[in-house]
Amino acid sequence: MPEYDFETDYLVVGAGAMGIAFADEILHRDNQAHVTLVDRRSKPGGHWNNAYSFVTLHQPALYYGVNSEPLGRGGHDLVSKAQILGYFERVLEKLQKTGRFAFLSQSEYQGNGRVQSLVTKERSQTIRIRRRLVDATYSQVTVPSTSPPPFDVEDDVTVVPINALESLERPWSHYTVIGAGKTGLDALLFLLSQGVAPEDISWVVSQDSWLVTRESILPQNLLATFSHQLKLCSTITNTTELFHHMEQLGLFFRVDPSIEPTSYRCATVSTKELEKLRSLPHVIRKGRVKSITHQTMHLVNGDIDVAPDTLFINAAANGLAKRPARPVFEPDRITLQPITHCQPTFGAAVIAHAEWRLPGDEAKNSVTCPVPHPTVPEDLPVALHTMFYNLQCFPLSMIGSVNRMRLNAMNHVGFLDNLKLLWAYIRWHRPFFANMQKLFPLEKPKPTQATKKPENAD
Ligand SMILES: Cc1cc2nc3c(=O)[nH]c(=O)nc-3n(C[C@H](O)[C@H](O)[C@H](O)COP(=O)(O)OP(=O)(O)OC[C@H]3O[C@@H](n4cnc5c(N)ncnc54)[C@H](O)[C@@H]3O)c2cc1C
Repeated sequence: MPEYDFETDYLVVGAGAMGIAFADEILHRDNQAHVTLVDRRSKPGGHWNNAYSFVTLHQPALYYGVNSEPLGRGGHDLVSKAQILGYFERVLEKLQKTGRFAFLSQSEYQGNGRVQSLVTKERSQTIRIRRRLVDATYSQVTVPSTSPPPFDVEDDVTVVPINALESLERPWSHYTVIGAGKTGLDALLFLLSQGVAPEDISWVVSQDSWLVTRESILPQNLLATFSHQLKLCSTITNTTELFHHMEQLGLFFRVDPSIEPTSYRCATVSTKELEKLRSLPHVIRKGRVKSITHQTMHLVNGDIDVAPDTLFINAAANGLAKRPARPVFEPDRITLQPITHCQPTFGAAVIAHAEWRLPGDEAKNSVTCPVPHPTVPEDLPVALHTMFYNLQCFPLSMIGSVNRMRLNAMNHVGFLDNLKLLWAYIRWHRPFFANMQKLFPLEKPKPTQATKKPENAD
């Protein structure tokens, strides 16, 4: 039997937003629990540590982070990278004050309770996990600053990650942004905000995406958004119809209304930002970039001349990948995943709550069916189906606490709007579930080959 250096109830691997949201909720609910958080990085906040300085949340900070600590000024405030990192440091200080929390920074989890320092070989610890291992690394976020370009680049061509825009040493004559996800949009909006003329920017869009209208997820509009979604999903016959109706209602955008998007990644823009994106005259839709030489950009469906003195910004990394869903609760572990549409920290907190409140993994899994991060339009109705399924499965013992969670967007909506939403739910839930089950049958993740007893437990 191995010798243990110390014991903990929950060994949470990953001090990103999800791992911290889990730790916060379990420590505040269960006053007996001890939590150890491990991360390769020196500071909490996960991928935000590598993000560009001008990044902000793309949804309101009002319901992002952890349950016990507010973030931002409320309303539509989207906080910056610096604010997010400061926030997570503050949260960790608060958790440390419980006396039941430890943070092992610059340490790698290597399985079987083993944690190895990345700074000194001398510091290798074996931890006895009394309850569960919590995998908070499952979302596998890739940030463009840490991803090389997925195309060939000739020596005299300058390709930089988006982070380089914050420290340019001179102005360039032309900028070409490669990528149409959240990072690509941020690069374009940053250049425009700095006064670069739209005609001095080219934008490579390999796939058009549906974009969430930021206004539709502000607290004052959530009632309308959810009510429309319930109603539309009760009657649609396919995904395209759903998006087109939502576009007419102002819930979704596409940059070019004449093109049917083939991608949907939950990127969010405001109406004003959309106008700016639409002002760009050079949008290149010739598929993915294959290679760039001094004179020519080769794309899958054709070539484009390169303007002299062009800086290429590589925003082609897919920040949040769609991972296959796996059961959240398994005998040896908890795998943190979103359980509502594009609200990962809320999911992590609800999972912690279910772990504390509900008896047995079957009951816990029944309210936490994963909602993988979307990549294609079809993922939206599937996500809505799973999300409303989870919500209707909450037992009475959980409903009150989940409704009051800071991370629950509906908690920031007035009492009357909540009543109206309940009414909309009562009115539409039967046709909603009947239609969704016919078009997009609910798929619960299959148990994996999990070990039968808790990892590293006796
Ligand atoms: C640009 C951008 C904007 C976003 N805006 C919003 C928003 O407005 N609202 C919203 O709800 N969500 C938003 N998100 C998503 C959300 O913030 C998080 O990105 C998402 O929840 C993923 O966080 P995470 O904690 O799962 O992963 P990460 O942040 O990647 O954290 C995982 C951590 O695990 C560590 N790790 C991995 N393996 C090991 C190991 N073996 N040992 C030790 N440590 C390990 C890594 O070092 C990392 O720090 C945004 C994401 C991006 C990229």
